Amino acid sequence: MTDRLELRAYGKINLGLDVVRKREDGYHEVRMIMQTVNLYDRITMERVQEAGIRTETNLSYVPDGEGNLAYRAAKLLMEEYGLTDGVNIKIRKFIPVAAGMAGGSTDAAAVLVGMNRLFRLGLSKRELMERGVKLGADVPYCILRGTALSEGIGEILTELPPAPKCSLVLAKPQISVSTKAVYGKLRVSELSPTKHPDIDGMVEAIRRKDLDGIISRLGNVLETVTVPEHPEIAAIKELMLENGADGTLMSGSGPTVFGIFKAPESAGKAYRALKAAQDGRLARQVYLTGFFNARQPETKNQEGEG
Ligand code: ATP
Repeated sequence: MTDRLELRAYGKINLGLDVVRKREDGYHEVRMIMQTVNLYDRITMERVQEAGIRTETNLSYVPDGEGNLAYRAAKLLMEEYGLTDGVNIKIRKFIPVAAGMAGGSTDAAAVLVGMNRLFRLGLSKRELMERGVKLGADVPYCILRGTALSEGIGEILTELPPAPKCSLVLAKPQISVSTKAVYGKLRVSELSPTKHPDIDGMVEAIRRKDLDGIISRLGNVLETVTVPEHPEIAAIKELMLENGADGTLMSGSGPTVFGIFKAPESAGKAYRALKAAQDGRLARQVYLTGFFNARQPETKNQEGEG
């Protein structure tokens, strides 16, 4: 019997992010183009006889226990199935934290998949996604992975064909932004139409495998809030463009910025320039990577790497 799993929890970026309106209940209705990237947290899960959930992370500023979304994911299935064995969860974070890359959501998604295997729950991918939405709007997408259109409050997903290959540089400036605060400051009704990205056009470009069409439509309405407040974001974009980026954008509510490069050499150059910028203080976390397009395999009674 498998009683130990090693999982990869992949981060995401948004190739497009539009906010359509603010609902009566305070939630924002969004239209987002989601893309998994090849940057992941490593999660080890162990089924043990001692009851309860124990979580541990390698970063002091990521909470353990109830405060960790991975803990809440394990708890959700434990309670639903009345599981009596316990689980030990170790998380090694590589995805920048509170950075617009769905780090917490993807850890929770991986733990749902892991619990399903460790405890032989027999849930399908869809059934896991239905449970994931209770933990956060991005969790179902993190279970799905790949390229997708996300609508509603983020829970209505349409699978898209994989976005074309390219090189990607990710850089997180040394600033913190709260997702809640960014959405709170957004005044959707006051935005000029030009600030809204062309999400339908982006979907078409993805279907046509037209990388130039995708690049020309990169857009994130939340930049209207964060860019004026944090000059570091514009500085990173500028440096990426100077070094040959074909397009740049802030991901999610930020502050992580990504650059898309058709030429891998330019991506390498931009990566090195960002690492060196302001003696490494402009962006402490810089990654040279790419899109990750494998969907989560069907999870029912399946063994192996996730
Ligand atoms: P999103 O893109 O979904 O808005 P994010 O990437 O901006 O998410 P996260 O990395 O998920 O943000 O972190 C947001 C907060 O969630 C952190 O400040 C942290 O305290 C908390 N958190 C809880 N569980 C985790 C986890 N497993 N990994 C990272 N942060 C976590």
